[in-house]
This record gives sequence, structure tokens and C-alpha cells, in this order.
Amino acid sequence: MGYAQPESTEVAIVGGGLAGFVAYQTLRHGGIEPGGIAVFDPDPDPVGAWRPRAEAIHQERMRSESDGHCYPTTFPGLAAREAYRRGELTPLVRTAFVRYRPTVGEFLRHVDELRDRSGWDESIVRDRVARVTPVDGGFELDTSGGDRTSRFSHVLLALGHPGLAVPDELDGDPRLVHAYEPHRYAARVAVVGAGMAAATEWLNALAAGAEVVSVRRREPVRRPLNLPRPLFTKRGLRRFHSTPPTERAALLAELSAPSYPPGDQWDAPLERAAAEGRFRIAGSVDGEDQVICATGFLRGYANDPVLRRLVDEHGIEAHGRWLVLAPDSTVAPLTDGTRTLAVAGVHGQWAYPAADTLAGMKFASRRFLRRIRTCRTR
Ligand SMILES: Cc1cc2nc3c(=O)[nH]c(=O)nc-3n(C[C@H](O)[C@H](O)[C@H](O)COP(=O)(O)OP(=O)(O)OC[C@H]3O[C@@H](n4cnc5c(N)ncnc54)[C@H](O)[C@@H]3O)c2cc1C
Repeated sequence: MGYAQPESTEVAIVGGGLAGFVAYQTLRHGGIEPGGIAVFDPDPDPVGAWRPRAEAIHQERMRSESDGHCYPTTFPGLAAREAYRRGELTPLVRTAFVRYRPTVGEFLRHVDELRDRSGWDESIVRDRVARVTPVDGGFELDTSGGDRTSRFSHVLLALGHPGLAVPDELDGDPRLVHAYEPHRYAARVAVVGAGMAAATEWLNALAAGAEVVSVRRREPVRRPLNLPRPLFTKRGLRRFHSTPPTERAALLAELSAPSYPPGDQWDAPLERAAAEGRFRIAGSVDGEDQVICATGFLRGYANDPVLRRLVDEHGIEAHGRWLVLAPDSTVAPLTDGTRTLAVAGVHGQWAYPAADTLAGMKFASRRFLRRIRTCRTR
């Protein structure tokens, strides 16, 4: 808490979750020393927010593939890392056939190693940022409710999701637990939602012996990654960036529809349970003993106090629930040859639809580093 800003600190990352961590690795690879980066987060653990959520749904494998890692460069990915560690080629063969998904354990080991060797803990400022104020040539960050201010030329906002979402009609229901909070399974369970967390919970609850009702408003899309693959490519992104605002917002809304991967490992247990009368689909919750909300997170910048203030007080543009960003994930009106304000993680979707993935975090981080370098060479 006793953070005294050294003279040379010019870069701040607000939020030390996975997006902040990926950015940190990119900046370190780009030659910026730990003393030149301040990472603001009350929790120094880069998976402090993520791990409990993955644990709550007993996630065993990542949805992302070999390139879903925190290294600053794309290659080698987690498949090569696992092949080397285990002394066998299977992960490489699987990745060649787009069949490799790292275990959560493999991913967490990789994060721990990078945390140790990158100097991450030296750069952590265990404090929450309450306000970001643009000033000449940079930004002032107010922490601890405004009793301390520090100043930076380049700021990356990596604030993560602003909270768990629960449907209004279920709020206060004593049977309710959110999928991302620790829980066991009752004998008769309703799982609300139809995305990856919901699908994982159907199988968890069935494996625990429960009778499961899947409560959904619409049918889930079946796809391996959380967005269609073209949106991870340069070509797909160029097309996305050329869409006018209203069309782009509509596309982002459509892409947020629930989805989970295709495959027998999902379908076979559900078909078996349905045949035994232990799994069915319904439009609403009924008399089940437990209601698990696999309904994800609150959506939109306005649920985050730092972003809401930036929009309300400094006229940053927003369209619907999205912050309007330049294609390189920066806030254009507050970024110039002397300073950078950029966004990584879920709030960066205007620039990169899959912003809430490790690939998206790398996209924003690399462009943030490029901006910093451009300013330095002017
Ligand atoms: C269960 C689950 C599984 C997932 N699996 C995958 C996967 O396989 N592959 C993939 O690519 N993605 C996956 N994701 C998506 C994504 O990687 C995660 O959502 C990830 O946690 C996002 O990282 P983040 O840093 O944006 O947010 P978080 O990890 O939530 O971190 C945000 C951090 O910001 C801090 N913070 C917030 N506001 C402030 C403030 N004002 N001042 C200081 N600090 C602040 C918080 O304390 C927190 O530590 C998964 C997500 C979930 C929930």
C-alpha cells in the first residue's frame, strides 16, 4: 500500500487479472523493466479472479487451444510446452489436428512460472483505482477513494467483468447459487443459461447423481471457441472494423449468444440422462431444489465505475453497452503522440470481438506496446 511512484514509471495497468498479466508479459518482452510498470490491483494473484470461477464449475480443460497462453509471443504455445515437460509428442500431434486443449492445471502452472520470472510482484500496487483523469501528456489515477494520486503517460484499463449476472426474476430466490460461486448439487437442479458454464454444470450435476432441468431462452450455438474462428484472423477483423457502429453493436450482441463446443463428450452423457428421465429442457424454473445461474456476468461498460466515470465526465464515446474504441483498442480522443489510454479484456470488444480471451488480451497488449514505442521515438 505504501506505493511511492518512482520517477521512471510511465506505464500503468489498471487490473492485475489475466488481461493485465498478459499485457505485463508483453511490456516486459518489449524491454520495459518492472520498475517502469505499475500494476494496480488489490489482489496480486493474476488468476485470483479467474481460478475460483473455473474451480466452481470444475473446469478441467481450457476452451482455448495451444495459443491460449500468457507468453508475449504466439509460439511456442502450450502444446509445445506440455510436450517438452512430459517428454512426449501427443500434445503436438493433437494441436496439428486442432484437437489440443490444455488442462486447467497446465495453464495455471504456466501462469505461476511466468509470474515468478517476469518480476510481476515487484510491479504490483495493491490498491484499487477509483478514477482516471486525463491531464496534459498523461493520466492521473486516484486510488483508495481519492486520497492518493499518481500520474502516468500510458494507461491500460484491464478491469475484467464488473460482477456476476442473475436474472431479475430469480434475484433473492433462496435456492439460487451462481455457477461461478462454490456450490454442491442438490437432488433436483435447474441450470439457467445455455453457454459453456451451463453445459459444464449439466454434466457436473448429472455426475453428482442429480436430476437436471436446463432452463433456456434460446438454443445454444455449438462451436469450439467462444466466437467464430474468422473473428480471430486479420481478414475477419478488417471486415469487423469496417462495419458501421449500429451494425457492429448488433453483431456484438448476436455474438454474445450462448455457445459451447460440439462433441460426443457433451452430447453422450446428456442423451443417456435424457433417456433415463434425468435431463430435460424447460422455459422456466419450477419446483427444483436448487437453481444454478450459469448466466455469466453483468454486461456493459456502465456497470464498471471507472469506465462509467470516463464516459460521463470526459465524454468518451459509447454505443449501446460498448465503449467505442479505435481498431488498436485505444480510446482515440485520449490517445495521441504523448499519451495512451487503451482497454484490454471484455470491455475491448469494439476493437476485438473476442476481447475476453487470451488471444484478445494479446491483441490489445501488443498494440498498447506499439503505441508506447511510437511515443518514445517521437
Ligand atoms: C470459467 C471461465 C473459463 C474461461 N476459460 C477461458 C479459456 O479457456 N480461454 C480463454 O481465452 N478465456 C477464457 N475465459 C475468459 C477470460 O480469459 C477470463 O474471463 C479472464 O479472467 C479475463 O481476464 P481479465 O483480466 O479481463 O479479468 P479478471 O481475470 O476478472 O481480472 C480483472 C482484475 O481487475 C481488477 N480490478 C477491477 N477493477 C479494478 C480497479 N478499479 N482498480 C484495480 N484493479 C481492478 C480485479 O481485482 C481483477 O483482479 C474464461 C472465463 C471464465 C469465467
